[in-house]
Amino acid sequence: MEGPALTLLKEEAHAFIGKKIVEASGSSKVDWDTLAGQQLRQLQSWGKHFLLVLDNCTIRIHYLMFGNYYLNSRHPDKTPKLSLQFNDGSEWNNYNCAVRILPETDMSRLYDFSTDIMDESWNAAKAKAKLKNHPGMQVCDALMNQDIFAGVGNVIKNEALFRIAVQPESLVGALPPRKLTELLREAHTYSYDFYRWRKEGVLRKKYCVHQRKYCPTCDTLLVKKPTGELQRNSFYCPVDQVLYT
Ligand SMILES: [Zn+2]
Repeated sequence: MEGPALTLLKEEAHAFIGKKIVEASGSSKVDWDTLAGQQLRQLQSWGKHFLLVLDNCTIRIHYLMFGNYYLNSRHPDKTPKLSLQFNDGSEWNNYNCAVRILPETDMSRLYDFSTDIMDESWNAAKAKAKLKNHPGMQVCDALMNQDIFAGVGNVIKNEALFRIAVQPESLVGALPPRKLTELLREAHTYSYDFYRWRKEGVLRKKYCVHQRKYCPTCDTLLVKKPTGELQRNSFYCPVDQVLYT
């Protein structure tokens, strides 16, 4: 689940803030007993980490690639990794995710929120400075690097690179300054489009190249292949997207 999806979850789950956990359970290896009786104080996210801040600890959920959640309902047959029951009868069930309890409540001590693409303190200049330290990195890896663009995942990577007409295997240090600026801008802009489209339920329909077969601009067959050190699937137009090396 990419960063913008977690921003949406923060909104959807806003009503849970202030409620008290009466029971916590699930298939994750977590000390459940410590959670009961605690109040949900705050919901935060950093990159792909979703954070439920309680009275004296924080639940960190990483939804990974196929994670999902049900608010006030549950999956018909799957066992949740984390199920929270609240004092007013409401419940929050999480599946296919990694759960950890952090013994902290001040998340600013653990996370630099200015690297989070969806955070209002997102700092493009800082990301640019980090990119300059990695001239030999492929742009597909740079965009997915959570120390530089926390919250960016594969969809945002593919769509943002299509928008700026850069081939995913291009090297950061070979990008003309104008393209570097566009890269920073579109990683941010596309993330907000992702957020808005997901909220409207039209995200998949808006994909230009991700999981598509033909280029929406020139109708050429798109290339689909794992790229970079991360070997995540890239989708790109071999005509419109320029390789800078
Ligand atoms: Zn094309």
